[in-house]
Amino acid sequence: MAKFLITGANGQIGSDLVARLRDMHGADNVVGSDLRLPASPQAGPHEIADVTNLDQLRELITNYNIDTIYHLASILSVTGEKHPDLAWQVNMNGLKHILDLAAAHNCKVFWPSSIAVFGPTTPRNHTPQRTVLEPQTIYGITKSAGELLCNYYHQHFDVDVRSLRYPGLISYSAPPGGGTTDFSIDMLRAAAAGKAYACFVGPKTRLPMMYMPDAVNAALVLMHAAPEDIRTRTSYNVTAVSFSAEELAAEIKKVIPGFECTYAPDFRQEIADSWPSTLNDSEARTDWNWQPEFTLDAMVADMLMHLQQPSKVVS
Ligand code: NAD
Repeated sequence: MAKFLITGANGQIGSDLVARLRDMHGADNVVGSDLRLPASPQAGPHEIADVTNLDQLRELITNYNIDTIYHLASILSVTGEKHPDLAWQVNMNGLKHILDLAAAHNCKVFWPSSIAVFGPTTPRNHTPQRTVLEPQTIYGITKSAGELLCNYYHQHFDVDVRSLRYPGLISYSAPPGGGTTDFSIDMLRAAAAGKAYACFVGPKTRLPMMYMPDAVNAALVLMHAAPEDIRTRTSYNVTAVSFSAEELAAEIKKVIPGFECTYAPDFRQEIADSWPSTLNDSEARTDWNWQPEFTLDAMVADMLMHLQQPSKVVS
């Protein structure tokens, strides 16, 4: 039976991915780990571990006989700009530790990259899989270097590491972790709480996005694909929807007509402006049959339905 380790398990993706993996493989076979205990009691094991500490990670992998790692622990774009040294330590050293341990213990690895690998010199529309990578944030720099490191470990140490360039991810079960695309979630949360929202990017800001059920599915489908179908060992473009801030507000108004959104762009506008508006993910679709399910209207309806049930939401 496969044994899974998920780093960053308390985060936005981890909260949903751990639950899904436990449903699929049994709670005891999925070990969550993070800097802290989770907000609510867990069905399976959870260990406190810092990914910048190689010994702590090694102990987890050997004690639990881990063979598959979903390495999610990271410092995201906005937090990274405030703490660049921390972002470098966690994102680069954490990934290198995981890859070194994967090579030594023969583990398969999933590691998410991001649209933050792109920068202002990248074509913004229909951004291709292979294009200019000149990110301007420390977060994007760690993701771009991380992609190359994954490819290197695959080529030189035969590590079966697989990666996705996620767009902005939208979910309700855990709060977002300090990213530039968080305005979408903040807007939906405000609307569900009957509040107005002052958006930190302008109305025309258009970014690629994905609902969490699609993001979790993408990771699982990628990890289950035959190795010969994974032709890109840096990271695959994947996308689902693309909308501007004002289009999201308009979609919310269809469900909550009284919702009001104003716009007060801050320093995060510059980061958003350096990222693509739409992505070309045809290689993921061809290589391992990537196919998202959620459209913008379906995602907004589902998010608002869940956010209006307070028991489902962690604030
Ligand atoms: P998050 O910020 O919600 O969660 C990250 C988790 O990592 C947190 O629980 C945090 O406590 C933990 N962590 C931080 N430093 C750590 C350390 N030193 N040791 C152990 N744990 C540590 O992030 P997320 O949104 O769940 O993102 C997970 C991954 O997906 C990251 O690599 C992120 O870059 C990537 N990603 C996320 C998005 C998104 O929109 N959420 C988009 C693109 C890529």
